[in-house]
Amino acid sequence: MAKRDYYEILGVSKSAGEADLKKAYRTLARQYHPDVNKTAEAEAMFKEITEAYEVLSDPQKRAAYDQYGHAGVNMGGGPGGGFEGFGGAGGFGFNDIFEAFFGGGMGGQGGRRGPAGPERGSDLRLDLEVGFRDAIFGSEREITISHLASCETCHGNGAAPGTEVTSCSTCRGMGQVQQTQRTPFGSFTQVAVCPKCQGEGKVAENPCKDCRGQGRKKVTKQLKVKVPAGVDTGARLRVSGEGDAGMRGGPAGDLYVVLFVLPDPEHRFERRDTDLFTEVAIDYTDAALGAEIEVPTMEGTTKITVPAGTQPGTVFRLKGKGVPHLGDSRRRGDLHVAVKIEVPTQLSSDETKLLKSLASLRLKHGIGLADDEEPAPAPKANGKKDKATDKAKKKEEDEGSFLNVLRNALGSRDKG
Ligand SMILES: [Zn+2]
Ligand SMILES: [Zn+2]
Repeated sequence: MAKRDYYEILGVSKSAGEADLKKAYRTLARQYHPDVNKTAEAEAMFKEITEAYEVLSDPQKRAAYDQYGHAGVNMGGGPGGGFEGFGGAGGFGFNDIFEAFFGGGMGGQGGRRGPAGPERGSDLRLDLEVGFRDAIFGSEREITISHLASCETCHGNGAAPGTEVTSCSTCRGMGQVQQTQRTPFGSFTQVAVCPKCQGEGKVAENPCKDCRGQGRKKVTKQLKVKVPAGVDTGARLRVSGEGDAGMRGGPAGDLYVVLFVLPDPEHRFERRDTDLFTEVAIDYTDAALGAEIEVPTMEGTTKITVPAGTQPGTVFRLKGKGVPHLGDSRRRGDLHVAVKIEVPTQLSSDETKLLKSLASLRLKHGIGLADDEEPAPAPKANGKKDKATDKAKKKEEDEGSFLNVLRNALGSRDKG
């Protein structure tokens, strides 16, 4: 994104006087001050307005700007340019686009005094959503980033091809000037970084057109990032050197990719750190008699044995079937399987008969009775049971396990 014209930002003409500038600045500052205006654009706008006013209210800077445009007055490290710090407060958004500068001035002003040396580029941040499975097993993602890259046309020195970078005439190569800073709160004089060469002592008299003499320009690029196995929401991946390009030969900043892990799209698993939780429904007969049941894992289904008398809510732990530890994927958390017991809502006549005889059998043996109750006599129930068992025997070959195991269970209860 090209830098906007300072006059345009303040909405004043090129011939605007000091009073007009001050008035325009005050109006806009009141409108966009981050303490007052909480919209996403306000912060950037306020920074822009302040920067524009700082330059245009200073005759020396204004002259340099009029002559050279933004190249004449790089405000990055200028006095009062400390609004970078607002960047980090923007909160999390879920876009794959750049959200905010990461901590702002990290590579920024750094108390610059005297001739400016190399300056590290800003660190940047990108928010990235990661699928549930990808976060567990890792993946490679292609991301689109936008950062300031060193200008290829001028190789970062800001001078148009074929022209030289010469000693700065404003500061005579010293990198510093005495200047009067005018703000709405008063004027003061100080030794400041030369606005024309930004303290470098050298300047491109013929600025590069591609980057307006900045030496850097905004580019959008694709990058591949490796999302390691076991990452969780809030994890930050540092992509070295993919922040903004440095200035005056300084190193580039870093890109921080902040991850947000999405829930399981099939709602089968829930994750807490390195443990996974799931629920399986089993038949009441399986719970009573014990059975081998199928349970889902992240690697497909597996079989576990539930013992006879398994209660609703019993949790079975499958060691090592959870999430790999970040940085040590040989270690994994566990999968916790909670058992939900399904009681049928409809029964066949055979099932009804069997359950009734089971119920009377339990009565006969006093199961579930309070101490002061007497077991009911149940000769009829016994007869019923025998008939049901005979029927079951006839059907045994094709009916299979249900009646079979239930009958065996009834038999074993008889003995007990
Ligand atoms: Zn350039
Ligand atoms: Zn200078």
